[in-house]
Formats: sequence, C-alpha cells, structure tokens
Amino acid sequence: MAMRDGAAYLAGLKDQRRIWHNGALVDDVTTAPGFANAAHTIAAYYDFQCDPVIRDVISYEDEDGDRSHRSFKIPRSKDDLRKRGAAYAAWAEHTGGQLGRAPDYMNAAMAGVAAARHHWGQNNPVLGERVTNILDHCRRNDVCLTHTFITPQIDRKTPLGQQEPFLNAGVVRQTSDGVIVRGARVLGTLAPFSDENLSFLMPVVKGEDELKYAIGFTTRVDTPGLHWVCRDSFDPNRSTRDYPISSRFEEIDTVAVFDDVEVPWENVFDYQDEKVHNIAPLAMRFHESLGHHVIVKNVAKTRFLLGLAHLIAENAQTNSFINVQIRLGDIVTMLQTLESIALAAVEGAVKNPDNGVWYCNHNAIVAGLRLFPEYYVQIIDHIKQIGGSNFMAAPSAANMDAITEALGPSVERYFKGAADMSESGIEKVPLFRLAWDVVGTSLAGRQELYERFFFGDQQVSKSQSYLRFDKTEAVDIVRRLLNPEWLSQEST
Ligand SMILES: Cc1cc2nc3c(=O)[nH]c(=O)nc-3n(C[C@H](O)[C@H](O)[C@H](O)COP(=O)(O)OP(=O)(O)OC[C@H]3O[C@@H](n4cnc5c(N)ncnc54)[C@H](O)[C@@H]3O)c2cc1C
Repeated sequence: MAMRDGAAYLAGLKDQRRIWHNGALVDDVTTAPGFANAAHTIAAYYDFQCDPVIRDVISYEDEDGDRSHRSFKIPRSKDDLRKRGAAYAAWAEHTGGQLGRAPDYMNAAMAGVAAARHHWGQNNPVLGERVTNILDHCRRNDVCLTHTFITPQIDRKTPLGQQEPFLNAGVVRQTSDGVIVRGARVLGTLAPFSDENLSFLMPVVKGEDELKYAIGFTTRVDTPGLHWVCRDSFDPNRSTRDYPISSRFEEIDTVAVFDDVEVPWENVFDYQDEKVHNIAPLAMRFHESLGHHVIVKNVAKTRFLLGLAHLIAENAQTNSFINVQIRLGDIVTMLQTLESIALAAVEGAVKNPDNGVWYCNHNAIVAGLRLFPEYYVQIIDHIKQIGGSNFMAAPSAANMDAITEALGPSVERYFKGAADMSESGIEKVPLFRLAWDVVGTSLAGRQELYERFFFGDQQVSKSQSYLRFDKTEAVDIVRRLLNPEWLSQEST
C-alpha cells in the first residue's frame, strides 16, 4: 500500500483505543472537541505527502515499487540524507515547524532502529530479523508512530531495581505468543493520533532486578490493556482566526499505562540483554538518526519566529530603534547558525563501515540539539519584549464585530498598526492573535517545555557533551603554548 492520504489515515484512527481525557474515554479522536482539529492537521500532512506537485521531493520508489516517504529509507548515501532533509523541510516550512511530531520524525526513528539490526541481532539473530520486519511493516502501511522512550519521573535517585517494581513498564512474564508488559512509560506525544507506539531506549539497567526493564518493542495504540492518559487539551475549540496555532497543532502528550499488555514476539526486538540494551543509543547512533528531523524542523520554526518578530516590530515601527534591531539581529544570527548546522550535518555526514549506512555528522547534530532549547527561550523573550502590550490589545473576531457594530467602523482605527503595515497586507489584530498563540497561550507554554526537554534534559546532556568529547587536540594546543622551550623563545 505504502503512502496513505488523509482520508485513509483518519479511517485508521477509528478503533478501540483507550484515550483518557477530562474524566472519560474519548469516543472518536477524529470528531471529539480538543482532538478533532489536530487529527485533521495530521490528515493534511498525509494529503500533503501525496500531492503530485511535490511527490518527488517527499517520496521515493521503495523496494516494493510503491511510493514511500523518504524518512522510511535507511540512508545509503549522502544524497539520501540530502533528499531526506528536503522532504522534512517541505512540511516543516509549510507549517512554520509547529507540528513537532510530524509523522516523518518517527518514520526516520524506526529506520534508525532498523539500520542497527546487526546490533539487536548480535546474540540472537531473530531480533535483527524482527526489527527489519517491523520497519517494512511500518513503511508498507505508512504507520503513524508515537513513542515512549522515557521512564516516568517518580524517583530519579533510587535505582529502579530498588523501587516498587513495575512503576516503569517491564516484563511480567512470557507466554508462547509474546511478553506481558506492566507499568507506565512517558511521554507519548501524538499517541491519540497514532497507529502504533515504539517503546525502547531508557532506562539504562544494572543487574538481575532491572533486567525486566531492558526491552524494546512496538504495540498498536489500541492494544487491549493499553491506556493513554492525556493532559488537558489546549485546543480551545475556537476559530483559527482567534487561535491560529492551538486550533491546529495540539498534538497532545500522554502517559502510557500498560495494564498487563500482551506484546507479540514479532514486535519485540530488544529483550533482556543488559549489554545490548544499554549501549543501543551509541550502537544505533540515536542522535544522528533522530536529530536530523529536529534540526530541519528547528530551522523552519526559527524562520517563522523571525518573520513574526519582524512583522510585530514593523507593525509599531519599533524596528527603527537600535535596541529592537539588536533583538531581531539576534534571531537572524540564530537562524543563520541553525541553517549552517543543518548543512554541516548532511555535508559532513559519514558512512558507518559496519552496516554501510550513512549518518549525519555527529558534532553538527549534537551542537544543534544543545543550542535550540536556549535559542527558543531567548526568541520567545525577544518577541514578548518587542510586542509589549499589543498582545493584550488584540480582541477576538467576535469582540471586534461587536464593538464595530456598537461604535461604528471608525473604532477599527484603534486596532491598527502604523500606516505602512496596511501595505504589507497583514493586519495587526490577526498578527497579534497569532503571536500570542506562540508566546502566551497554554499551548505556547507547552511548546516552550517541549523545546526545553523533548530531546532530553539540557543540563545532563551538556555535561555528557563535556565528558564524552575527545579533548586531546584542545589540550595539546595548551600544552604546546606552555612548552618551556617555546616560552623561552624570543618573539620575533
Ligand atoms: C512536551 C513534551 C513532550 C514530550 N514528548 C515525548 C515523547 O513523545 N516521547 C518520549 O519518549 N518522551 C517525550 N518527552 C519526554 C522527554 O524526553 C523528557 O522530558 C526528557 O528526556 C527529560 O526527562 P524528564 O522529563 O524525566 O526529566 P529528568 O531527566 O528527570 O530531569 C528533570 C530535572 O532533574 C534533573 N535531573 C534528573 N536526573 C538527573 C541526574 N541523574 N543528574 C543530574 N540532574 C538530574 C535534570 O537536570 C532536570 O533539571 C516529552 C517531554 C515534554 C516536556
């Protein structure tokens, strides 16, 4: 079958999934308030990938002779990576990078997991075969995946083996058909709108007591016993004019509760092998495999935020002031840095001789992942500082209509920007409604937390960057400059 369109995608969501929201199970995520808009945005993603105009950018002819999204392809050349980046960019630029979990993110994650089949299968070749079969299944059916890579944040100090068992999802027992999994995993963004879930990666395990947590598998979202506990939906169910972002891109975050879920053997690729499990992130090149999508999305998001900041400043002519120009210049520099990183990630890509797979440049990816959480927070701060009270002076469409009727059309002049704005065709009120949805609404707050955390905690990640970085060359320079012979030489 390969690539699906929006209608086929929406039809696939009508099953027995247990999505808990606001005290009840959601009947149908394609129609329920708080969910339907996002479901239709993701349907638009699937229609977009089928658009004949950009078909060749987005998709390739796969092994079966069907069209598949390029993100499913295991990269076998630098050109594959270039083309995959262009496919990511098409949707991300179209939407200002507002849908963090566009399905191509997890398509590529699954391809990255499968590219490491030699790793999973090193002690049990069946596991290597299974991971290839799982990727083929995802590609052939254009499966939309959510993921739960993380252990719930209950007690980060006490080793898991010394905590109450099965707080984090683990293997209760085996059956002839598969394994019974019990416990929770976080944080399944997009789960209500996904077909299947990929669970693996964390925690790092130590010893017999923790081996039950060393597992990697996929499950259907509607598998019996699997419950998805949503936070409140931040889609206010209002018009897209009033809430242009929240009413489209509420991808929702969930806690997955596995209430003795049976996972068929054919879906298990990482099973109770401490060494194989613990070194998986390095063996599969986790950052390079998943980070490419993140970097491309962040370029698109920063470009959109620059446009927003510029128009806000232009609206009140504050971009004539040097301090505002400096803030805008900051955002320009961030965009230039991210664009350069995206380029370096692909052009500096390397082939892994063990499996013949091409991976994005590690240093470029890691630098991009480390920088963006800080950039994002700074950009949001710049936009708030530039916009001032205007965010609060942008009434809803209904309120504008009401006061215009009561006071006459001349009241609209109080809600306009400087005269030259009308030439750009962008009106002040819709502009600030959009901007507030990016910097101030509930979804905006969630987006900031998302950018800070979703690829791991920055502080721990930075400390790992320091500890893992080969410092030999850096230390050699200092050593050379401190060399007594060199120091004693007369400077010429
Ligand atoms: C909006 C959002 C969406 C997300 N979506 C997904 C998703 O779809 N799938 C998924 O798998 N995950 C998702 N995540 C989870 C994300 O991967 C985690 O938030 C991230 O890995 C950090 O883990 P944590 O939240 O448990 O925080 P922790 O790692 O527990 O960190 C919390 C704080 O404690 C400190 N800390 C914790 N442990 C240590 C330590 N050992 N040493 C020093 N300091 C420590 C950290 O520095 C930090 O300040 C999402 C997160 C957010 C916020």
